[in-house]
Amino acid sequence: MKRETICVQGGYKPTNGEPRIVPIVQSTTFKYDSSEEMGQLFDLEKSGYFYTRLANPTNDAVAKKICELEGGVGAMLTSSGQAANFFAVFNICEAGGHVVVSSAIYGGTFNLLINTLPKMGVEVTTVDPYCTEDELNAAFKENTKCVFGESIANPALTVFDFEKFAKAAHSHGVPLIVDNTFPTPIMCRPFEYGVDIVTHATTKYMDGHAATVGGCIVDSGNFDWMKYKDKFPGLCTPDETYHGIVYAERFGRAAYITKCTTHLMRDLGSIQSPQHAFYINLGLETLHLRMERHCSNALTIAKWLENNEKVAWVNYPGLESSRDYKLAQKYMPNGTCGVISFGLKGGRKAAEEMMDNLKLAAIVTHVADARTCVLHPASHTHRQLNDEQLKEAGVSPDLIRLSVGIENVDDIIEDLAQAMN
Ligand SMILES: *Cc1c(COP(=O)(O)O)cnc(C)c1O
Repeated sequence: MKRETICVQGGYKPTNGEPRIVPIVQSTTFKYDSSEEMGQLFDLEKSGYFYTRLANPTNDAVAKKICELEGGVGAMLTSSGQAANFFAVFNICEAGGHVVVSSAIYGGTFNLLINTLPKMGVEVTTVDPYCTEDELNAAFKENTKCVFGESIANPALTVFDFEKFAKAAHSHGVPLIVDNTFPTPIMCRPFEYGVDIVTHATTKYMDGHAATVGGCIVDSGNFDWMKYKDKFPGLCTPDETYHGIVYAERFGRAAYITKCTTHLMRDLGSIQSPQHAFYINLGLETLHLRMERHCSNALTIAKWLENNEKVAWVNYPGLESSRDYKLAQKYMPNGTCGVISFGLKGGRKAAEEMMDNLKLAAIVTHVADARTCVLHPASHTHRQLNDEQLKEAGVSPDLIRLSVGIENVDDIIEDLAQAMN
C-alpha cells in the first residue's frame, strides 16, 4: 500500500464482526486459562498480551501503522517523544558508552543527551551537521555505540545529511538513529537513505491537533548486531532476566525493538496510554492531507516573508535561498514541513513585540499542529542554553519559530502583516 492508504487503513485489519476502527483496549491486564500459558509469555516463548506496560492491542495497532509508514520491521509507542529518544539511545548505549550527536537538534533532546545522559555514565560528542567527512569520522571513539540526528532540526531547520552520517556510522560499526518528527514519513523516509532506527514525537504532526503527547520508535531491522557483537552485549549475549535468551538470535531483524519493549519498557515504564494511542491514530488517518497543506502554506508564507522589507532573514528548507535547499530536494522532494524560522530587522525586541500582536497565530510551546503558532526559542524552549550552545544549535537570539497551520494561507499572512505593522 502507498503511504496515503496506510495512513487511513494501516496497522489494523478487523476480521468478521470486529469493530471497524481500532478499539481502545482499556485494560491493564489480560486473562489466560492456564498458569502454564502465562508463564510462557513471561519467558518470551510465546507472544501475547499480559500486561499493558509491556504491550496492548490498541498501542500495537497504532505502532504498526507508523511502522508501515516508515517501512520498518517493528515499532513501539512511548508516552512522549522524550521517552522515545531516551529509549532509542539507552537500548544500545549504557554507562561506559559514547554517542555522536548532531548539534542541530530539539532543545529537549539536547538537554537529554548533553546534560542527563552523562549523569548515567554515557559520553557524548556533538558535531556540526555541516561537518566534513573527516571531522565526522574524528568524533568516533572505541566505545561509540550510535549516532543521533534529526531529519529536520527543530527549530534550526537544518536538513540532516542522512547518507553522510550513515556512511560514517556504518564504517565504525554502529547504527544511525534519526528523529523524523518534522517531515514525518509522508515527506521523508529515512530508512531509504541508510538510517537504522527512527524516532518520533507523535505529539507533533502525527497527532496533529495538539491533543496528545506521545512518541514512537521504529526499527528498520537492517543493522547487523551480531556482526559487531562485542559492541552490543545487550543484544548479542544472554539476557539473564529472561532465562538467558539472546535477542539477536531469537528475534533476528526485530532484536532491537523487541529488547526495547521487553527490557526497557518493562523496567522504565513510559508506556503510551491506549486511550491516547487512539487519538494519535485519528490524527494519523489525515496525516497525508495535512502535511500537504502545512507544506504548501509554509512555502507561500516563507516566500512572502522573504520579500517583506521588515524581515531580516528567513530560513525554510523549501526556499531556494536556504542553505539546505539541495539536501531537502534530495531527501524530501515533495515538501519538508510547516515550520519556518525568521528574524526581523528590529532583532530580539521586535520579535517579542510582533509576537505579542498576533491575533490568529498563538504564542504556545508547541509546533506542528493544525493551528498556526509561534515561539521564541531563545526565551522559551532553549532558554537553558548559553549563547555558544544556542549558536551551535542554530538558534539566533532573534529567531522566531513560526509553525504554519492548515488555515487559509491569506488569513495567516494578513495576521503576520498586521502584527509586524
Ligand atoms: C517535541 C519534540 C520532541 C519531544 O517530544 P515530546 O512528546 O514533547 O516529549 C522530540 N523531538 C522533536 C524533533 C520534537 O519536536
